[in-house]
Amino acid sequence: MATNRTFTMLKPDSLEKGNTGAILEKINAAGFKIVAMKQTQMSQVDAEAFYAVHNERPFFGELVEYMTRGPIIAAILEKENAVEDFRTLIGATNPEEAAEGTIRKLYAASIGENAVHGSDSDENAAIEGAFHFSGRDIF
Ligand code: GDP
Repeated sequence: MATNRTFTMLKPDSLEKGNTGAILEKINAAGFKIVAMKQTQMSQVDAEAFYAVHNERPFFGELVEYMTRGPIIAAILEKENAVEDFRTLIGATNPEEAAEGTIRKLYAASIGENAVHGSDSDENAAIEGAFHFSGRDIF
């Protein structure tokens, strides 16, 4: 059953470049309600676990280094059809392939440093949300 929730992270490059306000404004304008949010920093163990599905990929080390090098903003977002609509809002993994006006087209530097995370299924949204938040932090 669809949960109408997705999970996002504004990645370290978004915080380094001061793009978090603009990105959150786009998220709000697209109709997503923030039901949980915090600034935090992932440890190496956190990032290796969060991205475990990619641990055989050649870019895994680079990905872990990137995601741990500074703070992130983690959030759970609510909206009808949240997972799919948020993937549309952020655009393709590679900003060169992302549609005009999408968050990655506007704010991502490369396929590796791509500004923002968005869950790819309801199941992963629930797993990823629970990775960062306990039930009492979700409203
Ligand atoms: P997403 O669901 O659009 O985030 O894409 P994936 O699940 O395929 O990849 C997860 C994350 O790994 C991406 O958001 C990128 O930060 C990183 N990534 C994916 N492909 C590459 C790549 O070819 N090189 C590097 N350096 N990082 C990548």
